[in-house]
This record gives sequence, C-alpha cells and structure tokens, in this order.
Amino acid sequence: MTGCSAAPTLTIPAERFARRLAMARTAAADAGLDALLVGVGADLRYLAGYAALPLERLTLLVVPAAPGSALTLIAPRLEATPARSCPAATSGAVTVATWEETEDPMALVASVLAAATGRAADELEAVAVSDGMRAAFVLGLQRALPAARFSLASAVLRGLRMRKDSDEVGLLRAAAHAADRVVAAIAAGPLIGRTEADVAREVRERLVAEGHEQAEFWIVASGPNSASPHHDASDRILRAGEPVVIDIGGQLGGYGSDITRTVWIDGGDSARGPHPDFARLYGVLRDAQAAATAAVRPGIAAEAIDAVARDAIAAAGFGPNFIHRTGHGIGLEGHEDPYIVAGNAEPLDGAMAFSVEPGIYLEGRFGARIEDIVVCGPDGPDVLNEMTRELLVVRG
Ligand code: ZN
Ligand code: ZN
Ligand code: ZN
Repeated sequence: MTGCSAAPTLTIPAERFARRLAMARTAAADAGLDALLVGVGADLRYLAGYAALPLERLTLLVVPAAPGSALTLIAPRLEATPARSCPAATSGAVTVATWEETEDPMALVASVLAAATGRAADELEAVAVSDGMRAAFVLGLQRALPAARFSLASAVLRGLRMRKDSDEVGLLRAAAHAADRVVAAIAAGPLIGRTEADVAREVRERLVAEGHEQAEFWIVASGPNSASPHHDASDRILRAGEPVVIDIGGQLGGYGSDITRTVWIDGGDSARGPHPDFARLYGVLRDAQAAATAAVRPGIAAEAIDAVARDAIAAAGFGPNFIHRTGHGIGLEGHEDPYIVAGNAEPLDGAMAFSVEPGIYLEGRFGARIEDIVVCGPDGPDVLNEMTRELLVVRG
C-alpha cells in the first residue's frame, strides 16, 4: 500500500477532501481547539486521501481551526512524491511542506502553526492529535507546543467519519459484494478433507482476485472451533457432519468488507443433514440477526439494536452463549464508531455503517455467527451484503 491507492472503478472524488477539511476545521473551532494534528492513518486518509506509510519519520496534516488559514501536509522529503500526489494536494486544498533527514520536524510543525495562527507556538492553548499517533510524535509535539492542552482528534472527527457520504457507501457496497462472492465460492465446496488453513489461503487469494487491495482476516472455524469467535485457522481437517464459521474481510478502495456465514458440511447422505440441535440454534440466530437488522433506522439508539438481537437469543435460552457485542462501525477502519453494544446510547443517524453480527457459541461443541454490513438509511436498513442468510449445506 503506497501513495493514494484507489479502487479500480470506484474512488472518492478529489473535491470531497476540501469539503471534509472544511467540516473538520469548523468542528475543531467549535471544540475550542487551535488546531487538529493528524498523523498517518485513517484520519489522514479521510481528510486528505493520503494512505501514507506508517514511518518513524513524521508525516502530519496540520489543520488550524481559524477560517481561511493555510492547511499544510508536513512530510519527510523522501515521501514528497506520494504526499504531493494525494487528492487534497493535487486539488490545492493543502500545501505540502517537506523536511530533510537532518532537520527537526517538530520545529517545522511549530513554524507552520505559528504562520497559520499568527501566534507563537508556545502561545497555542489546545490541539487535538489523531488517536493512533505514535507516542514518540505526541511527546515531540508536546515539547514543541509547551502551553497546549492535548486531546484526541476522534472527539472532533468521529461525527464526520461515522456518517458516510455516497461515495463511501459505494465503496463499502462494492467491498461487501466482493466478499459475498468469495463466501459463495468457498461454500460451493469442496471442503471435506481440507484443513482450515487451506480454506483460509483460498479466502485470501479470492479476496484479492475480487478486487481487494488486501485480505485482513480469514477466520475458518470448523467443528468445535466454531464455538470460538476469533479462532485462528488451524491444521484441523474439515469433516462431514459439522459446521464451519467463515468470517472474512479486507479493504477495497480503502474501505472494509466484513462478512460471516456459517455452513454445515454434509457428506452427501441426506440422512445426516444438519444436527437437529445445530439447526435449532441456527434458526434462532438467523431470526435474531434479521430482527436486529430490521430495527435499524435513524434515531434508534445503537444499544437498542444490540438489545433486539440479545433479547431474541436469550428468549430461546441461549443468552449466556452470545458472548460479544452485536456489531461495530466500519469504513476506512475495520472496527470504528459506532459500536453496537449495551451502554452506547448514541442514536443511529443517516448513512452510519456498521456490522450486525450476533453469534451463539456452545463451548466444546459448536457455534454459529451471521454478519452483514448495514447502512442506516433514511427509512431503515440498507443491507450491503446480498449473500443468503439461510444455513448453507455444503455437500462434499
Ligand atoms: Zn470479530
Ligand atoms: Zn467479521
Ligand atoms: Zn465484524
């Protein structure tokens, strides 16, 4: 991953970044900040379209809160080409300033901030840094801005990043459909006699073949392993008469896919079919996942979606077997706000994107999970994944 990578057919138009930067600046001013200091990661990609390398050398987007002040992308000299190629730079929204190997980049930050705010660096009172910034950079910035109170940029940026624009929804949908096709291909078999690790390798290859820049996770959990939500694909051999939880995803155009389907492996002898206990568990799970998805609408609390799934599963006697939250936001990061979990009373709002992924796990025996990515549409759920949620029976 270098420079400003984009999906082959879909991308975020350059003019979006100037708008996002303007919104971020307004939000920073509303929060009483002098500036946002955005390091390498999803915030930088969101604001500038720059998928910068996570180097030990400082790359920093300086977003002063003052209207009309200069926006500067500070980058090491050797990264000048990708920095200047990102859409926020090519469209003229930000200016790139580079530092040489022997220079102190923190001195450049201080001078850029002083020029943009008209105040000396040691007079700045409040800045916010992106949440994932390296401690070494945070401490260097604290020395360069000795009077400033430091806070997390997510307080300012989460409200923007949670609400996806139409281009972001388009990329999430493309990623979801690509992941759908991968799961469908795996579920077409054959599975019997293969190891979990071999199926996981096929998942990785297919995600890339379907347009992902990279595969990020490839859970293949068979038999009793299916009762462990984050099982790591092992050398266990898949057999007839057991379930397999397949939870896979990666990035396409920078945006995440994340789908889980559970299949039952049948040996071809129809008498064997899904075990009745598993069929019952799966039916409860499918109905709970469908009910939680159907409850998505603007204004409903995130925790209410979790409660819909949890209440349905508990009513069937599986309450203690649903051992994780119902979902997580998804976008430039695989897990981001909003979290669909008890205690998060935040109301869902237009075009928030998140997973709905309840599971039921009977330790030592088997388990199942069903996961879709759902966008909160104006009238209800927009389910991005199209793969069936009925139990898939793989013959062979
Ligand atoms: Zn997970
Ligand atoms: Zn998942
Ligand atoms: Zn997920």
